[in-house]
Amino acid sequence: MDELTQDLIDGNRRALSRAITLIESTRPDHRARALQLLSELPQRQALRIGLSGTPGVGKSTFIEAFGKMLTAQGLKVAVLAVDPSSARSGGSILGDKTRMETLSRDPNAFIRPSPSRAEMGGVARRTRETVRLCEAAGFDVVLIETVGVGQSETLVAEMSDLFILLLAPAGGDELQGVKRGIMEIADIVLVNKADGELRSTAMRTVADYAGALRLLRKRSYDPAEFPKALPVSAYTGDGLEKAWENMTYLADWRREHGHFDRRRSEQARHWFVSELRAGLLARLDSLPVRERVARLGEAVAAGETSPELAASDMLDWLAQG
Ligand code: GDP
Repeated sequence: MDELTQDLIDGNRRALSRAITLIESTRPDHRARALQLLSELPQRQALRIGLSGTPGVGKSTFIEAFGKMLTAQGLKVAVLAVDPSSARSGGSILGDKTRMETLSRDPNAFIRPSPSRAEMGGVARRTRETVRLCEAAGFDVVLIETVGVGQSETLVAEMSDLFILLLAPAGGDELQGVKRGIMEIADIVLVNKADGELRSTAMRTVADYAGALRLLRKRSYDPAEFPKALPVSAYTGDGLEKAWENMTYLADWRREHGHFDRRRSEQARHWFVSELRAGLLARLDSLPVRERVARLGEAVAAGETSPELAASDMLDWLAQG
């Protein structure tokens, strides 16, 4: 076994960072090593928790408080980010180094900003692999954080065992602002900032969302009270214990009833297909393929061959190669 793999399994953080860097690299030789590394990982399971919320709801404050509560219980917590803004522009909503300062110094916590990459699909692919590295390194909880932009929530939900939506207290009208799609994938809605002057608004928001969640189709395999809405305060810590109890209760329930493993199997199948798609697309983008497509295109345009024949010729050529 590779030395890096061994160090990673022993829980060495530098090894974990190096392995993640390897996984994020696009160099073909790095990729080959990353695949080798992934194939050597032991089967260890963490609880994978997806957490989404628009900028300003208090994600970093919440993760800092929640993460510290978990590490105080002796749990090892990894925090990963999937940030569509870093994929698009190189700038990042979630990647700021000053976030979660206390947690980042905690020896039982590991924080990794979003990989910056040309497209969202690439960020999601590498984050999935990073989740597995964190599990192999012995983390008990992997929190995958994202902002409510574009496809990122669905992508994060697809790599999580539980999906949490974090909201800020708001008037009833703003309930409409949350996309129905994300309400449907949320297992628990947490209304943050339930403290001080905001507490009563937060409690109303919890009631509004509890009502809205009741109208959604239930997942027949979950206990009847889920999905549910709960108040929390990342400032005071109120509600954090209860939120964690609910997360573990739901995860344990799903484990006992076989839904936990079934969901992971489905996610793995889905992951395989999207890896395959991404690989095929990358191959279509290679120089020889583009040259051949261009040449055949010229021939079609000049009337030397028909579009169908040219396409069929191209497909045959790809299948051989
Ligand atoms: P993010 O953009 O979702 O990561 O949000 P931040 O964690 O940066 O928090 C946004 C703002 O909300 C900051 O000014 C925080 O101080 C504030 N905030 C976060 N959590 C709480 C909370 O529990 N109560 C109150 N009152 N404010 C909070």
